[in-house]
Amino acid sequence: MTVDLLITDAYIYVDHGHEIAGGWIAIKDGRIHSHGQDAQAAPQAHRTISAHGQLVTPGLINAHHHMYQNLTRSYAPVTNGTLFEWLQGLYPLWAGLDEESVYLSTFIAMVELLMGGCTTSMDHMYVHPKPFLIDAQFRAAREIGFRFHATRGSMTRSVEDGGLPPASVVQDEDTILADSERLVAKFHDASPGAMDRVALAPCSLFSVSERIMRESAMLADKHDLRLHTHLAEDPDEDAYCAEIYGCTPTEYFERVGWASPRSWVAHYIYPSSAEIDRLAHAGVCTAQCPCSNMMIGGGSADAMDLRRRGMRVGLGCDGSASTDHASMWLETRMALLLGRFRHGPHSMSARDALDMATRGGAACLGREDELGHLRPGACADLVIWKMSDIALAGALTDPVEAWLRCAPAVAGTTIVNGRILVEDGVPLMSSLNDILRAHTREARRIQRLSEVAPENRTG
Ligand SMILES: [Zn+2]
Repeated sequence: MTVDLLITDAYIYVDHGHEIAGGWIAIKDGRIHSHGQDAQAAPQAHRTISAHGQLVTPGLINAHHHMYQNLTRSYAPVTNGTLFEWLQGLYPLWAGLDEESVYLSTFIAMVELLMGGCTTSMDHMYVHPKPFLIDAQFRAAREIGFRFHATRGSMTRSVEDGGLPPASVVQDEDTILADSERLVAKFHDASPGAMDRVALAPCSLFSVSERIMRESAMLADKHDLRLHTHLAEDPDEDAYCAEIYGCTPTEYFERVGWASPRSWVAHYIYPSSAEIDRLAHAGVCTAQCPCSNMMIGGGSADAMDLRRRGMRVGLGCDGSASTDHASMWLETRMALLLGRFRHGPHSMSARDALDMATRGGAACLGREDELGHLRPGACADLVIWKMSDIALAGALTDPVEAWLRCAPAVAGTTIVNGRILVEDGVPLMSSLNDILRAHTREARRIQRLSEVAPENRTG
């Protein structure tokens, strides 16, 4: 028996509480086949890669993102705005999204994620000025070979209905529900090892109608899907829910049938202590987005407290326009810094942060059985990290702490479903340069910048 790929001379973080100092890991048919210490015999392999002593971890999992926003990164007119000012400044630009721009932004986002050690990501696509945008995302994911959980986002409340976005980016309820059904039928793969899944994701409690919340939950039951939304992200949401629904955001979330193990929410910054306990008990998971929270300058969830109360917590890089990067390594480091800044040096370790970025994210996506760890049988999604000898000079006693504390780490080799997609820090997609040029052209169009510079024209 010969395996497809063997990685040797590695420090392997297999799972929480299971590490191999100086070992090998074998991959066959897109799954983790086996692992062992250097002294133990490894199987024959078609290809062998030496990790040169570097750390190998499960691929990081991104539990909250808005990939299209990389078309408006660090957009100068709104960089110092509040969350609502930022949204109101960008919605009119995002109204220019179409299939081509969403395909390009998804492609770039996924390559950027791979370079930061992320092998599985969701995307919360809630702006739909044109149809078939999520179809375009799946096209990008399949071309790259990225493991993708699309979430069908939605907004029904425009400015005319007391919401924030212009009418051009909201949709009526029947259109949203019919398109959700269509996407599930076309793309959702419930089988083990799936590369493509679909979840339902109304944007937030204040941007969609009660019918969309309720019927999305019913649709999720019918097709056995995950549910996602932003929850308790901003104090204004409390005021809005009190006025419109006569309750808190969490109470409304419960009322519309979302307090279930199907759901994971982004942010969850402002619940009461009792509300956290109720949602933890219901099996709801949370995605913390440390960089986005700090960049916007609001609060941030107390991730370790949520975990202590039994809630599963993953990490997300959030929209590219708020965070402006998509490195899950950086999010993981920020989660560590934020946790320790909040509660002191004994409160959180690099392993806690890594557990959030791997198993926590897998829990958010409902895939802890096969993602977020490297036990035999898990999906072969893993990273050989690359750090310079300079950065690691003197770091001799704990490779996992060193990985998150020392200089920026990038993915040397990123493997998804047993396939090498980044090698020696370089993404292997041959079309990448063309995609980058086209992305620049589309970003200029969407940002309504002047004539495209000749060097940025394609074709
Ligand atoms: Zn978000």
